[in-house]
Amino acid sequence: MKDIEIKKLLSLEENRQQNTIDLIASENYVSKDVREALGSVFVNKYAEGYPGARYYAGNTVIDALEKLVIQRARKLFKLSSKKWDVNVQPYSGSPANLAVFHALIPHGEKIMAMSLDMGGHLTHGHKVSVTGKLWEQVPYGVDKLSEEIDYGELLHIALIARPKCIVAGGSAYARIVDFKRMRTIADEVGALLLVDMSHFAGLVAGGVYHSPFPYADIVTTTTHKTLRGPRSAMIFSKKEYTPAIGKIVFPGMQGGPHMNQIAAVGVALHEAGTPQFKNYAARVVENAQILARELERLGWRIVSNGTDSHLFLLDVMSRGISGKTASDALERAGIILNKNMIPFDTRKPGDPSGIRIGTPAVTTRGMGKKEMKLIAEYISTILLKKNIAEVKGVVQKLAKKFPIAR
Ligand SMILES: *Cc1c(COP(=O)(O)O)cnc(C)c1O
Repeated sequence: MKDIEIKKLLSLEENRQQNTIDLIASENYVSKDVREALGSVFVNKYAEGYPGARYYAGNTVIDALEKLVIQRARKLFKLSSKKWDVNVQPYSGSPANLAVFHALIPHGEKIMAMSLDMGGHLTHGHKVSVTGKLWEQVPYGVDKLSEEIDYGELLHIALIARPKCIVAGGSAYARIVDFKRMRTIADEVGALLLVDMSHFAGLVAGGVYHSPFPYADIVTTTTHKTLRGPRSAMIFSKKEYTPAIGKIVFPGMQGGPHMNQIAAVGVALHEAGTPQFKNYAARVVENAQILARELERLGWRIVSNGTDSHLFLLDVMSRGISGKTASDALERAGIILNKNMIPFDTRKPGDPSGIRIGTPAVTTRGMGKKEMKLIAEYISTILLKKNIAEVKGVVQKLAKKFPIAR
């Protein structure tokens, strides 16, 4: 690279990633092949429109590419082309969700979704998101004791509010979501069921989390979290919703699709269909469960008492430490994660009571049971303010033992 300034920053970031332990639940390390597709000449092409109906010339190869990626998406999630369509053009998860709501829910109507502080996502109608300005969010949460979704309460809220759409899936909920129950509730009130599987798509692909497709009308997902692809998103829709969604994605909200990004999604979808990925997905969940259990053993409170997925929340305030203090201290020692609200949090989002811990990235690096036990010890030691400097050294040593793909 001739650009010295960017090259320097790139090298610094490579070193940062190599020398730290990444427990951010929404991050992962993509393969070299994914990066090769992202950095390919596909970046040069304008392809407004859809396969067979483009506004620019020169799209024969691009058409073949987009069709192949759609076919791979269907194959990975075992979908029949008679029932399901896939739009692979959304630039990322937020525009994908906005496109679905825009296409199917009249402005001002109600969208029922898990509230952000209970584990939901901004784009599901939170007031600071444009989705919360165009539609009215009807929030649901978790039971105070079990900290799991209370489906009886969910039905109760839905019956009163009569939302047009119910959203399942969030960004900080550790447990299996009962899509079947949610389908029944959606049917009872005549709402669409949207499953946003952004966080657990890779677990579904790997067969360790149940598939939302038998129950949902629409499924959205990012491709860069557990699915381990480039930053992008897909919208899966039952046939009847496809034309409206297609028109909103393009020309409604976007211009030319990022074909290099779509090529990279194709590579990731192929990788996610391999036996190695199945094994990866199983180890992601296993690692999360070991890490949670070890932290619990060291006296830390895990929200909902454990996890069925790739992430969990640690209630650090239960030992008098705020989420921000915890995440700052951990960062100083080379452990990277995010502060997070916990259910019924009495503190503010900027300095909440919890931290979120996820294992997709460390599992990609090849870490397993032994390393999870070590990481639990490091986290505990740092949070209890014992020997941060010393721990920083061992964290870096551990990280160096598991190189990232360059
Ligand atoms: C990450 C995420 C998104 C948004 O994805 P971006 O690509 O960051 O826009 C949407 N929904 C859920 C549930 C997510 O976890």
